[in-house]
Amino acid sequence: MKIAKITLLTLLLVALYACSGEKKNEKEIVQVEAAAPDPMEFGFHLNDYVVVRDTVRSGDSFGEILGKNHIGYSKIFQIAEKTKDTFDITKLKAGKPYTLLCTKGDSLQRPECFIYQENSIDYVVINFKDSINAYKESKPVKIVEKEASGVILSSLSASLDDAGLSQLLAYNMSDIYAWTIDFFRLQKGDEFKLIYTEKYINDTTYVGIDKIHAAYFKHNGEPFYAFEFETDSVKQIVDFYDENAKNLRRAFLKAPVRYKHVRISSRYNLRRRIKLYGNRIRPHKGTDFAAPIGTPIISTANGVVVESARRGGNGNYVKVKHNSTYTTQYLHMSKRKAKVGEFVKQGDVIGWVGMTGNTSGPHVCYRFWKNGRQVDPFKQKLPDADPIDLKLKESYLEFIKPLKQQLDGIQIELPIEEAPITAIN
Ligand SMILES: [Zn+2]
Repeated sequence: MKIAKITLLTLLLVALYACSGEKKNEKEIVQVEAAAPDPMEFGFHLNDYVVVRDTVRSGDSFGEILGKNHIGYSKIFQIAEKTKDTFDITKLKAGKPYTLLCTKGDSLQRPECFIYQENSIDYVVINFKDSINAYKESKPVKIVEKEASGVILSSLSASLDDAGLSQLLAYNMSDIYAWTIDFFRLQKGDEFKLIYTEKYINDTTYVGIDKIHAAYFKHNGEPFYAFEFETDSVKQIVDFYDENAKNLRRAFLKAPVRYKHVRISSRYNLRRRIKLYGNRIRPHKGTDFAAPIGTPIISTANGVVVESARRGGNGNYVKVKHNSTYTTQYLHMSKRKAKVGEFVKQGDVIGWVGMTGNTSGPHVCYRFWKNGRQVDPFKQKLPDADPIDLKLKESYLEFIKPLKQQLDGIQIELPIEEAPITAIN
C-alpha cells in the first residue's frame, strides 16, 4: 500500500516537474494526464493498448480474425495448438463480442491478445504477446437483493409485464413450484411475492436474475411458501421447502416439457368428443402439451426405460417405469434419446417433440399409468420427495423466520385497471 502511494507521488512529482519544464515535454505531460482515468477491463489496463472491439460474424473463424489483423499463419497455428486445452478456437459463435488488444505505436496495430466473451460475465483470454497462454475468467458480479409482487389478472407474464418485471421470474417460479402448482391453470386473483437477487457487472450493468430465494404464491386461495435451503454445503445441494420444512419437490414433475416451452392443448378426458369422428366420444387418456418441434421432452421422474420404439399411432415414443406403481409414456417424438434398459433421472431429456404417429400438430402426449391403469396425473396425489433431514429441520426453521417475515411484509399493489380475463395458456 505504502509503496503504491510513494510510486504515485513520484509520478505526480515527475508530471509536475515536466509541467514546469521546457516545451518539448508537453507531449509527455498530455500522456500522463490522459492516463489519469485508468480503465481496466478483463484485467488489462486498456490505456496500454489500441483496443479493437468487434463481434464474431457468421462464417468468421479465429484464424480469419487474426489474419485480418496481421498475425501470420504459423503463429495462428501455434496459438491454436497451445490453447486447445483451455479453449477450442473452432467454437467461436456468431454474434458474440470479442476484443483485440493491439500494440500501441505499431503501425500495423498487431494484436497481442484476443478476448472472447462467451456471455456478459464469462470470457476467455488468449494472450500471445511473447509466449502463448490462455485462460478463462469471469467479470466480478455484484448481487443485489430485490422484492417483487403481483396479482394474476389475465396471465402470469402479463402480471410481470405490468409490474415491469423480467419474464425470467415466471420461469424461475414455475421451476420452484413445478411439483406443487399447475402453472397452466393459474387463477384470476392468484398472488405472488418474491425475494430474489439480480446480477450486475461493473456495478450498474444489469445482466439478469441470479435466483429466487424465497417465494409466496397464493393459488386458489391457498398459500404456498417456498424457501431455498442448502442441505449439503459440500455437494451444494439446494432444495426448496415450505414453511413447515416440507420438501416442495415431488417424485413427479407436473409436465414432461419445461413450462416456458409449452401450453396444454388437450387434457385427460374420458368423455372427449371429436368432430372428426362424428362427435362420438373418443376418450383421451393422455395430456397433450403443445410445443415447437425439437423441444426437449423430459422424464417426469426417475426410472428405467422399458420401451423405446416407433409404432402406429404413437409414433416415436418412450415408456419409463418408475416403480411397481407408476409408469409414464411420451408420444409423437421427432426423435428418441433413450434406450430400453437405460436409467433416467427426473428432468433428463429422453426425446424431442415431433409429429410422428397420429397427430395433427407438434405436441407430446403424456400418458400416466398407476397400477396398470391410465389416470390423470393432475388429479393424483403424488408421492413426496425425501423430507428434510431431522438434524437440519431446526436450523431450517430458524433460517426462514426473517425471510417469511419479509415476505409477509411485502404489500401487493393492485393494478388500478383490471384487464379482461383470458385463458392462462
Ligand atoms: Zn394425447
